[in-house]
Parts: sequence; C-alpha cells; structure tokens
Amino acid sequence: MSEKKVEMSKTMKERLAPKQFTKTPINGTKNTILVSSAKGGVGKSTVAINLAFALQNLGLKIGILDADVYGPSLPKLIKLNEKPKSEDGKALIPLEKYDAQCMSMGFLVDEQTPMIWRGPMVISALKTMTQKVLWKDRDVIIVDMPPGTGDTQLTFAQEVKVDGAIIVSTPQDLALLDVKRGIQMFDKTGVKILGLIDNMSYFKGDDGKEYKIFGESGVENTAKEFDKEFLGHIPIHQDLRSSADKGDPLTHSNPDHEVSKLFKNIAEKIKQSFL
Ligand code: ADP
Repeated sequence: MSEKKVEMSKTMKERLAPKQFTKTPINGTKNTILVSSAKGGVGKSTVAINLAFALQNLGLKIGILDADVYGPSLPKLIKLNEKPKSEDGKALIPLEKYDAQCMSMGFLVDEQTPMIWRGPMVISALKTMTQKVLWKDRDVIIVDMPPGTGDTQLTFAQEVKVDGAIIVSTPQDLALLDVKRGIQMFDKTGVKILGLIDNMSYFKGDDGKEYKIFGESGVENTAKEFDKEFLGHIPIHQDLRSSADKGDPLTHSNPDHEVSKLFKNIAEKIKQSFL
C-alpha cells in the first residue's frame, strides 16, 4: 500500500516537472529569425519585410513566413493573392514573389474572412506553416510574428528551432514596457535575442531637422538595460509607407534609398551574427 503511494507521487512529480520541448527545425532553410514586437502598430511587419529584402540584397536566399494568423499582412505588403498549391494534398508549396518564398494564412483564407479561432486552432495552423511548407534551399526565413506574448510566441519559442529573434519598437515609454516583457519571454524560453530595432525614431522635415515624435533613445536604453544589442534606428519616412502600400517593399524597389541603406546596416549585423 505504502509502495503504491510512493509510485503515484513519482508520477505526479514527473507530470509537474517543467516540460522539455522538442524544437523542430523548419526544413529547407539554414536559419530562422523571428521579427517580433510586444505592441501592435509599431511597424513590425514593415521592418520585417524590408529587413528580409535587405538580406536578399546581401546575396541571401530568403523566405518570409507571416505568422500573424489573425491579421496577416504579407499578401498586401508584396501584393500577392494566390492560393498555394499542394502536390500530395498535405504539404504546401510556398508562393514566390521577388525571388522570395512566401507563406501566410492570408493566402489560404479570403481577405474579408475574420479568423475567429481559439488557441489550439492557431497552434495547429502554425504547425502546418512551419512543418508542412516545402521551403526550398533558403539561407534564411524571416518570420513576421503577431504582436504580444501569446500562443504564437510560445509555440515558436518552445516548439520551433529558431536561430534568433529581433524585437522592434518605437521609442515611447508605453511601447517599451511591453518590450521588456518580450525580452523576458525570449530569455526564459531560451531564444537568442539578436537585438532591438528602433522604428519611427524620427521624422526629417524639409528644414533638415530630425523631429523625435515618439521620444528619444528609449529602445537603445532598453537594449543596454537588458544587455542586448541595439541594431539601429529607422525613421518615419513616407516612402516606406507608400512602397508597402504598393506591394513592393522599399529595400526591394529602391535598395539605394537612404532608408534602405539603414536596413542594409542592420542586415549586415544580422548576417554577421550567425549566418
Ligand atoms: P505592425 O506590424 O507593428 O502592426 P505595420 O508594419 O503594419 O505595423 O505598420 C503600421 C503602419 O505604419 C503601416 O501603414 C506602415 O506602412 C507604417 N509604417 C511602419 N513603419 C514606418 C516608418 N518607419 N515610416 C513610415 N511609415 C511606417
């Protein structure tokens, strides 16, 4: 009787022990980088896609995975609205645009259809996009994450083998509070943070002055506080917005643009850090 009790308590202990997750790599790519933001609307998707093409400009073969199941933005950002095909009815062939292989939930559902899914459905969709897409011969896949620290972040952090994460923020205090949460989540789940990017850092007026609309140095200081690399500033620039709206990201349509050069600097740091 007492032996049985001991046995049961062992099982209980095992159940309660922290789970060891098996991290599955995304096949067909040498590297997987998450571009994340703790808050919505800070320009994460814009930065992710421009960074992807800045890496392509450095000679890398890129893939872009839009992991925002509820609010996919890739179809608009590269003006692509086809349905991915499948040869065996199981694995999806990624779409191709501007020599980038692309996958997004937005390719699979109608643009107007709201995604009213619960967590487990999102996790299952993410598993399809990370394990059942025939990515081929990529140097790097840039994953555009949804904002926050929810199901998608946890799924990637615990179940997908990722090589690093980049956190995008604006320099205002409100956004930075969430950034700190994001940093801690990646640190706790063992995902290497490659660095922080300060988006919408300033607006350069016709008078040549830089106007720091969202404050100054906030992201840089947060990087210092948590001992992370600061990767660079991206200003508010109309061409970034308009190129995104046209479906041809600035770093692709105009690699010599002053803002594309800032992305190039960041891409070089990322390339050096692990590729
Ligand atoms: P998020 O992915 O964080 O929700 P988006 O990338 O969708 O943000 O950007 C929100 C809006 O801000 C978009 O209209 C985008 O074109 C614009 N935007 C983002 N970053 C910049 C920037 N640095 N300069 C100008 N517009 C920007």
